[in-house]
Amino acid sequence: MYAYTLNNGVEIPALGFGVFQTAPEATSDAVAEALAVGYRLIDTAGSYLNERAVGDGLRRSGVDRSDVFIETKVWISDYGYEETLHSWEKASRKLGVEQIDLMLLHQPMPSDFRRTAEAYRALETLLSDGRVRSIGVSNFMVAHLDRLSATATTVPSLNQIECHPYFRQSTVIEKNAELGILTQAWSPMGGITHYFPGGPNVLEDPNIAQIAESHRRTSAQVMLRWHLQQGRCAVPKSVRPERIRENFDVFGFTLSESDLTTIDSLSTDLRRGPDPEIVTIEKFGREIPED
Ligand code: NDP
Repeated sequence: MYAYTLNNGVEIPALGFGVFQTAPEATSDAVAEALAVGYRLIDTAGSYLNERAVGDGLRRSGVDRSDVFIETKVWISDYGYEETLHSWEKASRKLGVEQIDLMLLHQPMPSDFRRTAEAYRALETLLSDGRVRSIGVSNFMVAHLDRLSATATTVPSLNQIECHPYFRQSTVIEKNAELGILTQAWSPMGGITHYFPGGPNVLEDPNIAQIAESHRRTSAQVMLRWHLQQGRCAVPKSVRPERIRENFDVFGFTLSESDLTTIDSLSTDLRRGPDPEIVTIEKFGREIPED
């Protein structure tokens, strides 16, 4: 397993494990399984309501806390300076850890960017106090990164964005690179393309299936390899032990330049997740529990 070095010198594993939509009662097992397989990065969020189970899985695994990179996200309802400081208290209590490796703002809130900027200022405080080792953002588009830079004193270390073969978001990836921000792919195998019926499912894409066949691998593995070879961090999710293993077994083959170009060419402008521009408290606000 290899790692990337964030812009503040902290190392982050290149491949992690996601737990969005993993029920709290399944999360502890999934995390323990992932750690047993070799994953050393877990991506959760206050709004996933499973941080406590992530902490349980970590302790059950027997893997040393210092060997695992824990990342979580602050939900928009907890934006604002004091509120975001408090959201660290909630997350650290639920996870059962004294220090969080990476804390992200889950979404920009363009309708109230002042609160978004205040939330980021709180992350900067947490960073300087040592309560987090690195800070970043999620779902920030170019305009949001520009707006943040007007008030921030620390460049985010990472931007986690929707990124899969059907929606690569090259403009944001380029902006991240220009600013020294690591891109982390959410729905790296296009999970968002099959949660809702209707649109094409990237896991069934015939071009990717053909590349997979030529390497005697699966489409999921090819997509993860595509991210890694293009320098992105990826956080695939599964609750099934065989898939958790499959998704980690991506270090023993290499895609050709032509494979990478073919996968790049599948990208469209069709975003499948929520448009970050329309995220408001009225629409998406929800209370993040204390415990
Ligand atoms: P993924 O691309 O990781 O796909 C997950 C889906 O694919 C699940 O339905 C899973 O089902 C299935 N799956 C997993 N492995 C395989 C495989 N090898 N073959 C076939 N199907 C497979 O999508 P996610 O949306 O879950 O994204 C991953 C992570 O990204 C999340 O868990 C979360 O941590 C993060 N995320 C962040 C967001 C943000 O706004 N910042 C938004 C969405 C996700 P099963 O579990 O049954 O195996």
